Amino acid sequence: MAQGAGLLGADGQTAPTIFAEMSALAELTGAVNLGQGFPDEDGPAEVLEVARRAIADGANQYPPGRGILDLRTAIAEHQQRFYGLNLDPHREVVVTAGATEAIAAALLALVDGPDDEVVVFEPYYDSYAACVALAGARLVPVPLRWPDFQPDADLLEEAVTDRTRIILVNDPHNPTGTVLGAEVREQIVRLAQRHDALIVTDDVYEHLIFDEPHVPIASLPGAAERTLTISSGGKTFSTTGWKIGWAAGPAHLVDAVLAVKQFLTYVSGGPFQPAIAAGLRLPESFFTGVAAALRAKRDLLGAGLREAGFDVSRPAGSYFTVADAAPVGATDAAAFCRDLPDRVGVVAIPITAFVSAAHRDRFATLVRFAACKRVEVIREAAARLQRLA
Ligand SMILES: *Cc1c(COP(=O)(O)O)cnc(C)c1O
Repeated sequence: MAQGAGLLGADGQTAPTIFAEMSALAELTGAVNLGQGFPDEDGPAEVLEVARRAIADGANQYPPGRGILDLRTAIAEHQQRFYGLNLDPHREVVVTAGATEAIAAALLALVDGPDDEVVVFEPYYDSYAACVALAGARLVPVPLRWPDFQPDADLLEEAVTDRTRIILVNDPHNPTGTVLGAEVREQIVRLAQRHDALIVTDDVYEHLIFDEPHVPIASLPGAAERTLTISSGGKTFSTTGWKIGWAAGPAHLVDAVLAVKQFLTYVSGGPFQPAIAAGLRLPESFFTGVAAALRAKRDLLGAGLREAGFDVSRPAGSYFTVADAAPVGATDAAAFCRDLPDRVGVVAIPITAFVSAAHRDRFATLVRFAACKRVEVIREAAARLQRLA
C-alpha cells in the first residue's frame, strides 16, 4: 500500500479537496456557493432545542459505545415505521460519527485485503474511494449514464464477481441526484446472493426524495441478512455539523463496525444523540415537508440552469442537480468551474471530482450544483448564470 494509502499528494502534502478549493474561491470572490452540499438554514427548532437542553442537563460525557439506547430505539422505530424493517436496538444498531464513520468502519471491518473488491456506482461520494484505499482493497466503479444516471445492467453484471466483497450503494445518489430503478435494486440483491457479497447502503438522502418514497435495499426479499444500512441525521434535519450517523443490520455486521469504530472515534456527539432521536420521532408532516421544500428548490435551480443554456438532468432526490456545461461552451468541467466564480460569480463542483482518473472523459463536461440553499440564494445564482449566454 502506498504511503497514506495514496491519499497524500506527490509532495507528501494533503491534497486539498475540490470542495475546499471551491469554497475558498467562493469566499475570495464573493461568489454564490452552490458547491459544497450543506444547507444555509437551520433544521427543526424542536430538535435543536433538545440538544440545548441535553447540554444544560449534563449529557456531556462519553455516551455508550453503541450510542445511547434512546437513539438506537428511535432508529429501530424509524426503520419499522417507514420501511417495515425489524431491528433489535440492542444488537442490530450502532451510532457513529456521521455516516462517514459508518462507511469507513464498515469498509475497514468487512474487507480483507488486496484481493477483495468493492463495487460502487460512478460518480461516487469521495470518501468511498479513500476508504477502499485505506482498507487496501480494489475499487470497481460501474458508470452511471447521463442523463438519467442509471447503470447499464450488463456492466453491473460484469462488475460483480466472486472477488466482490461489498456492493456499496448510495441511493438517493450524491452527486447525481438519481434514485435507482426498482430493477437495479433487485439486480444488486440477485448479484450479491449469487456471488455471496455483502451490500452496504448509504441512505443519507432517504427523506430527500421527490417522486416516491425511499425503498431501502434491506427491505427487498433476501437482502436483509446480507445488508448493512447506513444513514445519518445530518441531511434530514439540516444538522450536517452534528455528525450523528448509524449503521443497522445483522448483528454480526453491526458488531464488525463497532469493533473498528471503537478505535476511530470510540463515541461522539453526546448531547446531539437525544436530539436526533427526537428528530426521528417527528410526525410524518415534517418528513414530507423537507422533501417538498427541496423539490421546489430543485425545480427553481433546474429552470435557472436550463434558461442559462445548460442541459439538465432531473434529480429524483438528494441535494444536487447535475448539468452538462458543454452547451454553454465547456470542454472541461474542472476548468469551467475554476473560471465560473470570476466569470459570473457562482461556485459549482465538476463531476470529475467524483470519478476515477481512468474515467474522467466520460463525465468531462458535467457540473454539480447544490439546491440545498435558501430560495433567494438559488434565484441569485440562477440570475448570475444567465450571463453565460
Ligand atoms: C453527506 C454525505 C455523507 C456524510 O454524512 P455524515 O453524516 O455527515 O457523515 C455520506 N454519504 C453521502 C452520499 C453524503 O452526501
